[in-house]
Amino acid sequence: MILINEHYNKLTASYLFADIAKRVQKFQDDNPDKSIIKLGIGDVTLPLPAACVQAMHRAVDEMAEPGSFRGYGPEQGYDFLREKIARHDFQERGADIAPDEIFISDGAKCDTGNIQEIFSTDTRVAVPDPVYPVYVDTNVMAGRTGEMQDGRYQGLVYLECTPENSFIPDLPREQADLIYLCYPNNPTGAGISKQELQKWVDYARDNKALILFDAAYEAFIRDEAMPRSIFEIPGAREVAIEFRSFSKTAGFTGTRCAYTVVPKECRAYDSQGQKTMVHPLWNRRHNTKFNGVAYPVQRAAEAVYSPEGQAQVKNNIDYYLSNAGIILKAMQDQGYKCTGGKNSPYIWIQSGSDSWSLFDSLLNKAGVVCTPGTGFGPCGQGFIRISAFNSRENVQEAMHRISKALS
Ligand code: PLP
Repeated sequence: MILINEHYNKLTASYLFADIAKRVQKFQDDNPDKSIIKLGIGDVTLPLPAACVQAMHRAVDEMAEPGSFRGYGPEQGYDFLREKIARHDFQERGADIAPDEIFISDGAKCDTGNIQEIFSTDTRVAVPDPVYPVYVDTNVMAGRTGEMQDGRYQGLVYLECTPENSFIPDLPREQADLIYLCYPNNPTGAGISKQELQKWVDYARDNKALILFDAAYEAFIRDEAMPRSIFEIPGAREVAIEFRSFSKTAGFTGTRCAYTVVPKECRAYDSQGQKTMVHPLWNRRHNTKFNGVAYPVQRAAEAVYSPEGQAQVKNNIDYYLSNAGIILKAMQDQGYKCTGGKNSPYIWIQSGSDSWSLFDSLLNKAGVVCTPGTGFGPCGQGFIRISAFNSRENVQEAMHRISKALS
């Protein structure tokens, strides 16, 4: 008899997006002549940078010729891309990362979801609350949690991110072996300083723990003092893995390219307490289950590091950051306490009541859709997230409507 993985039964169906869709539909039915502006989704709206498009075209032409056609590439990614990443994203910022410590993949979602496979099922996992749900659900699927109770899975350590701690959680009081951190943060938009990140690295070193650092929004950092990588923090090479993505950096959400950095010194332990290197484990997992990112896509990602690519990427991110600034100012002018909107495309807004009532008010009075914070965990209650990924015109119109409706 074929049995299912019953851990999947513990997953709670997320009604969030269905619920949002239902409310939006009702508003549309009741107000057929009113336009809706969607500032809920975290997907880019600007097209690919021209340098990436040109590089992808050239690579497709190469694939059309017998002399330059390529079949399977290296599972970990082509050297031309790994070398550029190591130099531009790490070595030039003083982070000592080598090309063979970089694994190219088709997404930070897959990587942050898959990485837990190489750790024991007994691992004590700590996740932020509110959280990018992939970290939680993949550990539920793997059987590292009990059932859900009051919005939380038994067995997980929740790291509460609240206005009181500026959305940077306190170090856990109970043992945590595997710690997920994400900065700049989705959904709160909060950033982390080098000193604060150092505390986490020291904790991991003192407690034989490991940090999974999701830096998918690194490109939005404009504050020079903020770390762009956990590997800018002394001592991190032994205790951290970092995830990066071209999705938000260069508009690759539909093109798919990302990477994971596993330093050679990064360690975990076997059941005898013997120190074991993580790099060969992830390499083995990657080689066995992944066959590489498409050659034209890797060439497009490489073009991000060309002088034209760098300028175009900066322009695009500046565009979203200006949108974020407009949203931040408009919501602060309405008297709301906000986080993010600087060094981040997300603005996390304290609603003063429950998340859904501000959601409904923005929808019904202004025709603007946001995301209720409750979708990201219990600590998201009382907040909404507004995303800067939209056109300038739509963002300005949305904020104009909100200011008019709520004043
Ligand atoms: N990590 C965070 C925090 C995200 O918000 C997202 C996407 O929204 C991802 C990872 C996924 O990125 P990718 O498109 O590379 O799979």
